Amino acid sequence: MDISKRTQRLIWAIWVLVVPFGLYSLYHFATPSEINWPILLGYTALAIITTYFPFKVAGTTLFLVQWINLAIFLKYGAFVESIVMQLAIIPLAMQLKIGWSDFYRALFNSFMFFMVSAISGVSVLLMGYQIGTLNIHDIILFGCIYQILNTFTNHVILHFYLVLTKQEHEGFFGRDSIWDYAGLIVTFPFGIMLYLLIEYVGPVAFLLLGIPFLIMTFLVRLYSNSERVNEDLNQATEIGHELADRLSGDAIKDLFLSRISKMLPVDYSYIIDIDQGNMYFLKSMEKDINVDIYQSHEELLRSIAGIVYKKDKSILFNKQKEWRKSGSDFLPMDAESIISVPISRNQKMEGIFVIASRKKYAFETYQLQIISLLCSYFAVSLEKARYVQDAVSKSERCGLTKLYNYRYLDQQLEINMNQVLNGELRQLSLLMMDIDHFKSINDAYGHQSGNDILFGLARLLEKELGDSGTIARYGGEEFVVILPNYSKEQSLVLAEELREKIESTPFEIQTDLADQPLLSLVNITISIGVSTAPEDCDDAMALIRNADRALYIGAKREGRNRVAEYVK
Ligand code: GH3
Ligand code: MG
Ligand code: MG
Repeated sequence: MDISKRTQRLIWAIWVLVVPFGLYSLYHFATPSEINWPILLGYTALAIITTYFPFKVAGTTLFLVQWINLAIFLKYGAFVESIVMQLAIIPLAMQLKIGWSDFYRALFNSFMFFMVSAISGVSVLLMGYQIGTLNIHDIILFGCIYQILNTFTNHVILHFYLVLTKQEHEGFFGRDSIWDYAGLIVTFPFGIMLYLLIEYVGPVAFLLLGIPFLIMTFLVRLYSNSERVNEDLNQATEIGHELADRLSGDAIKDLFLSRISKMLPVDYSYIIDIDQGNMYFLKSMEKDINVDIYQSHEELLRSIAGIVYKKDKSILFNKQKEWRKSGSDFLPMDAESIISVPISRNQKMEGIFVIASRKKYAFETYQLQIISLLCSYFAVSLEKARYVQDAVSKSERCGLTKLYNYRYLDQQLEINMNQVLNGELRQLSLLMMDIDHFKSINDAYGHQSGNDILFGLARLLEKELGDSGTIARYGGEEFVVILPNYSKEQSLVLAEELREKIESTPFEIQTDLADQPLLSLVNITISIGVSTAPEDCDDAMALIRNADRALYIGAKREGRNRVAEYVK
């Protein structure tokens, strides 16, 4: 929550102008008559305890204190009620972990409580409510109006505050408001009962009503906490399934970070990899933006990630004070809450995950386990993706030369030819090459040496062609290059350059035919056939056939070590 300094000063100013003078006026407007101090103390204590134990229902924080302030108002009027409510801000501020840096929030709550007390109290008094009456009809009627006004004023002020501070909210009748009005149905009869019971039986009423009420809120708290754990676990399961569906490492990393920042209030997230005992940043996101961070293993050792690395244990920090002194860090200055957990697979730490929030107390202890669980899903999914990628690339590559195999060539050629047909590519050329007299090289130096030459030639082709085309091993000592957007002329020039380069490059081989392995250099030549679509043909198989024809008729038959183009 970013509240500008200007807005913060405005809140201070409003508080100073309104609250002290307002309380003073309220005192004069509705001066309380005789006060039974032990009873008022009981009321105050109950209000403070209730405010200290808020609970969440369906994501909304509820403080069911209305029944106590209703009873106080009925008994002592608006001034005393507003003083008790002001005191209840202390436990509220503790619950919301308000510190000096965001003290304006406590002031805002004080202002809001005061306005709520004053507006609803004064209105009901003006309507004719007699403080301390025992007329049941009046108590119910005015009590009811008082509570509705209370909730309504609260919503109006909160609405303006959220608009003023440009925060997202659900408007007047969002989920929060509905829960608040629903809360009234519970608190109203309790408030009336408390007031009447104290009148008739005295302070023991605090126990008679206070204890069951506190037990009830405690049970609801327990229930809503376990509901939240359940909800997070459900989300974690869903994320686990989604991770398992992704087959590329990048997609897994992106999904992992984006889903976790949806689940928790995350501003910064970092995946640190551990490779042979060294930590380095694999992926870092700061407020939805990818950032590159470089820190050495030693620097990382001194950071929070280092603590997790050394202890192999998850950690949770609630605010910056708890971790800033633990050494230099890569985290931005405004980071407060942190969760950091090891990413482990088969009991081995493979990485470290760090998330941070600019809010204090943003994370809860139980979320550590959920993040750990997600980290193991993450590690397993990455591993699986690696296997799949490995299998895919194996199925596309030739084992000896590591170039693409015939299967891949076939698919790629089909794709490129379709691009020619739909106009994405202007032209498509294909080189078919075959090593000249390769059989005699095998015969002279051995099959293994022949293999070495095939491997060396593959590297040479990769080096010369870069990414101008797709290189594949077509068969034994035949190679194919697909050249998107190459004209016949350009391809002939390129083919000639390749031919010359190969002719002038000696290949290193280990001859194994002699008794001693011997290192020698062998020169080879190749013949190349060139064909181009759409001028020669418009289907993939014909493009290969044409290049093959050019190779045999135009190049091999004409004496080898030459380039030939397909002619119709
Ligand atoms: P040319 O193409 O010039 O007509 O003569 P060539 O000797 O290359 O003739 P051909 O294409 O008929 O022979 C191909 C030879 O390539 C046959 C085979 O021994 C060799 N060969 C094919 N695949 C491999 C391989 O994977 N490793 C090795 N070492 N040799 C192979
Ligand atoms: Mg040959
Ligand atoms: Mg051949």
